[in-house]
Amino acid sequence: MSEAKRSRPVPKCPIRPGEPCSLCQLDVTGPEDCGLVYLVMHDPQLRDGLQAAARAAR
Ligand code: SF4
Repeated sequence: MSEAKRSRPVPKCPIRPGEPCSLCQLDVTGPEDCGLVYLVMHDPQLRDGLQAAARAAR
């Protein structure tokens, strides 16, 4: 019995709303271990700016 190919869901980049993670940072496996995401999400000003930009893009 052959197994059907299953595609894995592509994670979205938290700092580029609407875009998939393209593994643009060195040695990352996705948003969960992306240093840039960590830095942005742990900086209140950057996080607020990101949320404002996401709202403006809607
Ligand atoms: S590696 Fe990080 S910054 Fe690059 S697309 Fe993925 S989540 Fe976004």
